[in-house]
Amino acid sequence: MASSRLKRVEESATMKAANTANKMKEDGIDVISFTLGEPDFDTPKHICDAAADAMYRGETHYAPGAGISELKKVIADKLCTENKLDAKASEIIVTPGAKQAIFEVMMSVLDDNDEAILFDPAWVSYDPAIKFAGANTTWVPTDTENGFKPVDIEEYINEKTKLIVVNSPGNPTGAVYDKQTLKNIADIAIDNDILVLSDEIYEKIIYDQEHVSIGSFEGMQDRTITVNGFSKAYAMTGWRLGYVHARSDIIKPMLKIQSHSVSSATSFVQYGGIAALEGPQEPVAEMVAKFKARRNVLVDGLNEIGIRCQKPGGAFYAFADVSEYGDGNIIAKKLLQDAHVAVTPGSAFGESGKNFIRISYATSIERIQEGLERIKAALV
Ligand code: PLP
Repeated sequence: MASSRLKRVEESATMKAANTANKMKEDGIDVISFTLGEPDFDTPKHICDAAADAMYRGETHYAPGAGISELKKVIADKLCTENKLDAKASEIIVTPGAKQAIFEVMMSVLDDNDEAILFDPAWVSYDPAIKFAGANTTWVPTDTENGFKPVDIEEYINEKTKLIVVNSPGNPTGAVYDKQTLKNIADIAIDNDILVLSDEIYEKIIYDQEHVSIGSFEGMQDRTITVNGFSKAYAMTGWRLGYVHARSDIIKPMLKIQSHSVSSATSFVQYGGIAALEGPQEPVAEMVAKFKARRNVLVDGLNEIGIRCQKPGGAFYAFADVSEYGDGNIIAKKLLQDAHVAVTPGSAFGESGKNFIRISYATSIERIQEGLERIKAALV
């Protein structure tokens, strides 16, 4: 039994892939899992200490709905200095994870039958969040041969288009949009009076280039809703801590959802968030250096065995073209059955992904090398 709202939404395909692999592991099979969407590192100690101190000092009560003032202030400062946004603490809501922030954005800005644009392939939870809000997703194809940049966006815009979702560095492709690509999207948003949701959760996991926030372009400040969080940069997935920034008349209604559902992000967890942003950033740099080394081993290894894969500029996913061997679904199944290697079929992220598999390299170099050997034996 399900409501009509839920009937429009599929179960998460990434979770499904991970669950099958976990089940095989429980049965004693040595599965190499490349399905994980989370850093395999532990949260840096100074962040844990700050949250534990807060808990022991009694910060265990309800927090203000939009977040504790000190954290909102630190986030606003970060958005001003790092992301070149003109952000005020009053325009920020601290959420239990970026995912909740995205859900709140969709519920707040989309009306029934509005349209929201996703660049195909896109992270699995955007489309369900759009559908929960009663709106529809318009899938805009990307140039899968050349950096997964969106093409012909304007052809997909009509009077119902309310929102464009931008995710750079992106999941599932790891693509980082250059400044010009972001500027083109910004110009289209301005010309057509459309809001932009910029999901910048992978901003720190970026290699050899600078992250650019689309909200920093002229004319974009008022129409950009910036979402970010602590899960990926600070290895804090289980903490459930994220945030959203937007101009006051967009952010205020969002608080209604938070206050009538989760109430707030967990009180003492928010002190961990302050330590993450204010404390030493070396742990982030160390994690990124490790991700980069793993990316190089994986992507070079795939290309060496004849599986085409562009070098992603960020995040910790490689999106490999397996069309020479079959479609992504068939290959993901084959790899799991024959090689005990778990990957996510690209179709989980949209039609453009059907010839691809997503390989998460949030695992050790040794496991990556072993996985490559197994993939080679099974496919090539
Ligand atoms: N946005 C993207 C693109 C993601 O890949 C993820 C997590 O996989 C999230 C948001 C959610 O992050 P959080 O753990 O902060 O909810």
